[in-house]
Amino acid sequence: MLRPTATSFAMRVCAFLILAFSTTLPAQQRQRGGEDARAPGIRPDITIFSPLDLPTPNRVRTASGSPGPDYWQQRVDYRIDVTLDPATRSVSGREHVTYHNNSPEALTFLWLHLEQNVLRKDSIGSLTEGGAAVGGPSENSDGVTVSELTSAGKALAHQVYDTMMRVELPTPLAAGAKFEFDCAWSFLVPSKVFRRFGTWDVSKGTVWELAQWFPAVAVYDDIYGWNTLPYVGTGEFYNNFGTYELNVTAPRDHIVVASGVLQNPEAVYTPTQLDRLALAKQSRETVILRDKDEVGQPDSRPAGKGPLTWRFLAENVRTVAFASSEAFILDACSRGELLVQSAYPEESLPVWGKSTQMLATAIEGYSRRWFPYPYPVATNVGGIEGGMEYPMIIFCSGRNNTSESGLYGVTTHEIGHNWFPMTVNTDERRHAWMDEGFNTFINRYSTADWFEKSKEAKPSSFAGMMRMPGVPIVTAADRLNGLQLGVLQYQKTGVGMTILREYVLGEERFDFAFREYIREWAFKSPQPADFFRTIENAAGMDLAWFWRGWFLEDAMLDQAVETVKQPGKRGGGSITFRNKERMVMPLTYRVTFDDDTTEVLKVPVEAWFQSDVITRRMEQVKAIKQVRIDPDGMLPDIARDNNLWSADK
Ligand SMILES: [Zn+2]
Repeated sequence: MLRPTATSFAMRVCAFLILAFSTTLPAQQRQRGGEDARAPGIRPDITIFSPLDLPTPNRVRTASGSPGPDYWQQRVDYRIDVTLDPATRSVSGREHVTYHNNSPEALTFLWLHLEQNVLRKDSIGSLTEGGAAVGGPSENSDGVTVSELTSAGKALAHQVYDTMMRVELPTPLAAGAKFEFDCAWSFLVPSKVFRRFGTWDVSKGTVWELAQWFPAVAVYDDIYGWNTLPYVGTGEFYNNFGTYELNVTAPRDHIVVASGVLQNPEAVYTPTQLDRLALAKQSRETVILRDKDEVGQPDSRPAGKGPLTWRFLAENVRTVAFASSEAFILDACSRGELLVQSAYPEESLPVWGKSTQMLATAIEGYSRRWFPYPYPVATNVGGIEGGMEYPMIIFCSGRNNTSESGLYGVTTHEIGHNWFPMTVNTDERRHAWMDEGFNTFINRYSTADWFEKSKEAKPSSFAGMMRMPGVPIVTAADRLNGLQLGVLQYQKTGVGMTILREYVLGEERFDFAFREYIREWAFKSPQPADFFRTIENAAGMDLAWFWRGWFLEDAMLDQAVETVKQPGKRGGGSITFRNKERMVMPLTYRVTFDDDTTEVLKVPVEAWFQSDVITRRMEQVKAIKQVRIDPDGMLPDIARDNNLWSADK
């Protein structure tokens, strides 16, 4: 998802800084616990350096952070036939679901998500401020109507609770067995919705975006059993991998794009469009399949009467989404076997003419740096949704992205989610930082792939986000307001990863470990502990102090120059530093001598093991003119004025 409050974000952070509380706790021994351990639930005997209280490793999730020999996850395959009827605003479908119980336990019931129930006025999402904060329904909806739920022709007992539905199994489903069932459902798309899907009326029609739109079996795993957190609005989704046959029936004049490979192009494109598609599959340059002047022309759609069915196949994905419009311009290019496309109305021109190249560029960068893009298609849709990601398809506002920097920023962010969490499948409702934050981090390096000059802000400029008392990064998304969500799950996590890479570990050491994490957990579901363990194992460093200070607590950082003792004729000068807050970091400082020569020195984080105060003796006999902590702006120190000591003050 696009970072919330993106436009007003900078202003709001500034306002927050001014209003933020200032700590009055004693400075001594903050990092060693004691009475000043402020975060709720923090035991006073736990220091910043103590081992983390992680779950006991087992044969499913090992001590090294990798999936163990007994790792399992459920698999769910779907065949979905859905009809979009713009005249009635109805989406009605039938799905045949094959549920593979790979768990070691027999199951007696299943939980399914009915996410469009979030639009009901009695839903948790509608009745809580958290839901309203991200848009909320602006028009009443009856939610999802389930008109049939059967297995082998026999009705299945079921109960609906908000956005969750419990389905009772006729007989226990043994470990290793599969269960097939059929479901028919429908819902009406309200004319104003902001939650990841909806419609945009444009001059030549309406752009429909459908997401989180079909009954989907919840995740059953080794950590929580059934993952039944409801869809409240902010937290996105957590689903099983499986194969989807998606057949979308839409009016004949519509172009449809979806997660998956189009199986019947000859039935849904004109001969001209098929020729252009063949060309696009050979071309790094963008080829227009249907241009702006062809939109609305009857000969730009196959001859005949009645709706058309677009058949897609998506393998190894955690959900599917689609978009449909009579107003779509469609273009495409390729990168090897990968087909890259964009669908948008003419209102999105001219900048959307570059969307396909932007998407291809972003994918190449992520594939080179981290892990190859695992899917055969990638499509960017210009519609009403500001920014949202699904496997192989992303929704980036076709209305708001009128600048190249705006469109590239959203595009690279949303497609970046095809690594986190579409490939590394984490629980977005509980651990949004593992998708939004890791994605924000990889986005940082993607900007330079498109723009020659990347002007990414230094970590030191994010000090304001440290002042989030009581809400550590590891807070479930639905418990955060928009500002907290944007700061903690996106920026603070992203900046933390940057500091870990560029300041704590170094690029080679970090990249090896992070690639290992992605490789180990691709198409599986890591928990936070698995991430912490994988990085520590592969990087070969105890990072408990970093995880605790940055992710698990609301700790802040304040490194200060306390005193400077000038050398005598035989030397003997020294500098004393103090760590004034609970968070610890390696200390880097630059000394300027009175002949204007400089020296940069780095002190490892272990220097804070014994004391909050460390004194470094200087070997030089030259007088010290200035000492500056963190000269490169790599740390979000909350009080930078005490980073500087000058002889003339
Ligand atoms: Zn996102």
